[in-house]
Amino acid sequence: METYDFFAPNVKVIAKTQVLVVGSGPAGISAAVAAKRSGAETLIVEHHGCLGGALSVGMVQSYNFSTNKFPQVLTGIPKEIEERCRNYGASAPDYRGAGIFIESELYKCMLDAWFEEENVKILLYTTVCGVFVEQNTVKGVYCVNKSGIGIILADCVIDATGDGDVAVQAGAEYQMQEKNKLQPVTVVFGLSGVDVDLFEKHYKAHPVGDKDFGFQPVFRAARENNDFKLPKRGGAWKSLTPNGEIKSANLTVISEIDATDCWDVTKAEIECRKQILEIVRVFRKYGADIGLGNCSVRNIATQLGIRETRRIVGEYILTEQDVLEQRNFDDGVGRLLTCIDLYGNYQKSRYPKELETFSVPYRALVPKAVDGLLVAGRCISCDEISFGAVRLMVGCALTGQAAGTAAALSVKEGVAPRKLDINLLREKLSRDGVNL
Ligand SMILES: Cc1cc2nc3c(=O)[nH]c(=O)nc-3n(C[C@H](O)[C@H](O)[C@H](O)COP(=O)(O)OP(=O)(O)OC[C@H]3O[C@@H](n4cnc5c(N)ncnc54)[C@H](O)[C@@H]3O)c2cc1C
Repeated sequence: METYDFFAPNVKVIAKTQVLVVGSGPAGISAAVAAKRSGAETLIVEHHGCLGGALSVGMVQSYNFSTNKFPQVLTGIPKEIEERCRNYGASAPDYRGAGIFIESELYKCMLDAWFEEENVKILLYTTVCGVFVEQNTVKGVYCVNKSGIGIILADCVIDATGDGDVAVQAGAEYQMQEKNKLQPVTVVFGLSGVDVDLFEKHYKAHPVGDKDFGFQPVFRAARENNDFKLPKRGGAWKSLTPNGEIKSANLTVISEIDATDCWDVTKAEIECRKQILEIVRVFRKYGADIGLGNCSVRNIATQLGIRETRRIVGEYILTEQDVLEQRNFDDGVGRLLTCIDLYGNYQKSRYPKELETFSVPYRALVPKAVDGLLVAGRCISCDEISFGAVRLMVGCALTGQAAGTAAALSVKEGVAPRKLDINLLREKLSRDGVNL
């Protein structure tokens, strides 16, 4: 590839903080709250104009395993997210009974209020585009925003970007599947003009697992007429409001997209929007019986829904066996269900009926060979199968809380995160309500 050296003299230091969290999905939110509560001055930086990540700008509204049916995994800040959304009026039960539905727009407002209460500093519309490293230790980041290019200095940085952007820029090793094996991307959208009585009658008569569940009969009718070529056959939806809105429909799908490649994400966004128009055309033509005859596009997510990209290689790589054998680790920082959700890979996915859990080792949050840095969320250190067990939102929030707490403690103790006394961390997490 052709390259140029890029010189930017006199770059301004726009902030100095003890803990810097980059990215504000479930992982970043939990990391920032945990770091601040553990005594560190904390700043969270987000590329978009609101906090929330996939839950807000991505309109992915399923906060799975977040009901009292899962008391072993829903503890600490992941549980607090559920409680705060409920108290704020930003959630509703998920029709599948597996968790709650979180309303993206109110979630943004809930987070603003929560962060004001916690006194965590926020910087929006700011993208981290480089890392300032000295002797293998991250000292801060370069970022770009409306004010130009700036530097943020920090004693410890948490990479909660989903894609491991900061860790990779700092030189950390990572793994990523070949493009044709990555989980597909989706642009989530909302519908309006749905006939509530007809749609409700239909989905109550055809529960999950039924061949006519959800949108399946409509796609089938269009296919039989040779009038629909897209890959989707079913798909999930969230929250049908009394005035005929489906606030989140997960129906578009594109494979072979490397979401760390600027051209691929551009292509995916545009292709998914074409799919949305096609899906709505088919709903209107073939879906009148189930209440979709007059539906139209309500809104389209601001951000492409990315399921899988890089996994940063840490001091330990969580494996499929660890999950299947329900392993406990001496440096465990919380428990997750052994549910492995590998979208579309049904051979390797599993949805256990029993409440089986495994623990997530702290070493999976500590990148190999780079100091001053922790990772949280879907980019932690795991193999491509165990990834299916850590990528769900509750899991991302869990690793976020652990990373935020560890970052604050390592700053306080004056040690690198990899040298942090694990008992100190586990005791603090336990006091903060985490089931270890
Ligand atoms: C279509 C779809 C459906 C899903 N369904 C479910 C489901 O039903 N249940 C479930 O639990 N999970 C589901 N998931 C998975 C879940 O949403 C994600 O794995 C989870 O949100 C990842 O959390 P995170 O905090 O690691 O990252 P994200 O939520 O992706 O947040 C990362 C944040 O970092 C910001 N960012 C990225 N790079 C930079 C940068 N360089 N500088 C500044 N900011 C940056 C982004 O703007 C974003 O806000 C789904 C995902 C998708 C895409």
